[in-house]
Amino acid sequence: MFDQLSASFEDAVKGLRGQATISDTNVDNALRQVRRALLEADVSLSVVKKFIEEVRRKAIGTEVVRGIKPDQKFIQVVYEQLVKLMGTENTPLIRNNGKPTVILMAGLQGAGKTTASAKLALYLKSQGAKVLMVAADIYRPAAIDQLHVLGKQIDVEVFSISKDVQPEEIAAASIQKGCEEGFDCIIIDTAGRLQIDTAMMEEMVRIKSAVSPDEILLVVDSMIGQEAAEITRTFHEQVGITGAILTKLDGDARGGAALSIRKVSGAPIKFIGVGEKVEALQPFHPERMASRILG
Ligand code: GDP
Repeated sequence: MFDQLSASFEDAVKGLRGQATISDTNVDNALRQVRRALLEADVSLSVVKKFIEEVRRKAIGTEVVRGIKPDQKFIQVVYEQLVKLMGTENTPLIRNNGKPTVILMAGLQGAGKTTASAKLALYLKSQGAKVLMVAADIYRPAAIDQLHVLGKQIDVEVFSISKDVQPEEIAAASIQKGCEEGFDCIIIDTAGRLQIDTAMMEEMVRIKSAVSPDEILLVVDSMIGQEAAEITRTFHEQVGITGAILTKLDGDARGGAALSIRKVSGAPIKFIGVGEKVEALQPFHPERMASRILG
C-alpha cells in the first residue's frame, strides 16, 4: 500500500531525501504538494489547512530510525493522518434488539437518497433483517414510484400513504406498522431539494421528532466536490446526523468529500455508493479511501 503512495508522492518528498530529520525548512515543499493533491481531490480548504498543520506538527523532528527515511516517514504520517481524519475504522450501523432500528435518510435532491435507501435495505436484508422502506417524499410522486419499483426489485416492502399526508405522519405511521409487524429495520426516504432550504430542514426536524431515529444518514454526492463540507455542516447543525453515505464514488470523484464530512460533523461515513445498481453499496473503510485520495 505504501508503495503506491510513495510513487505518487515522489515529487513531494524529493527534498526530504538524504536528510537526517524532517525539519521546518525541508518539509515546506512536500507540504505544498500534499496541499495541492488534497485540494485537487476536493477536500475543503479549511479542512486542508488544519490537516497540513497537523501533518507538519507530527512530521517535524522525526528522527531517522531503523532504516525508515524521512521521505518514507513523511508519506506515512500523511497517510496515517488521513486515515485518522476519516475515523480510523469502519463504523457499523446502529442496530436495535427487539424493536425496529429506524434509519432516516437525508440529503439534497439527486444525491442518491432513494437509491441508497434501496441499497441499504438490500444490505440489511442480506444480513437477515426484515426491512421496511418508507416513502416520505410527498412532493415528487416519481420518488414514491421509484421506491416502489426498487422495493419490488429487491423484494422489500414499501410503505406509502398519499401525497396529501404530511411526511412526519407517514413516518410515524410506518413506525407503528414496523413495531406491530415485527420489522427489524425501517428506512425512511425523505424529500430533498436542489439546495439547502429552510422548509426542507424544518421538515427533517419534524420527522426526526416524530420517529426518534436511531440513525440519521446524510447522503452526499461525492461529485459535488468542495460543497460537500458546507452541506454536511448545515445538515449537522440543523438536524444532527449520525453518519453519512458518500455516493457516486464509481465516477471521477477523488473522494475528498470523505475528509470534509468527518471533519465538519464528527459523524462517520458508514457506506459508499459505487454504482447505480442496488448491489453497489460498500461499508466505508478509511484506509482504502486514504489510498484513493493520495492516488
Ligand atoms: P435522490 O433524489 O437523492 O433520491 O437521488 P436518486 O436516488 O434518485 O439518485 C439520483 C441519480 O443518481 C440516479 O440516476 C441514480 O441512479 C444515481 N446514483 C445514485 N447513487 C449512485 C452511485 O453510487 N453511483 C452512480 N454512478 N450513480 C448513482
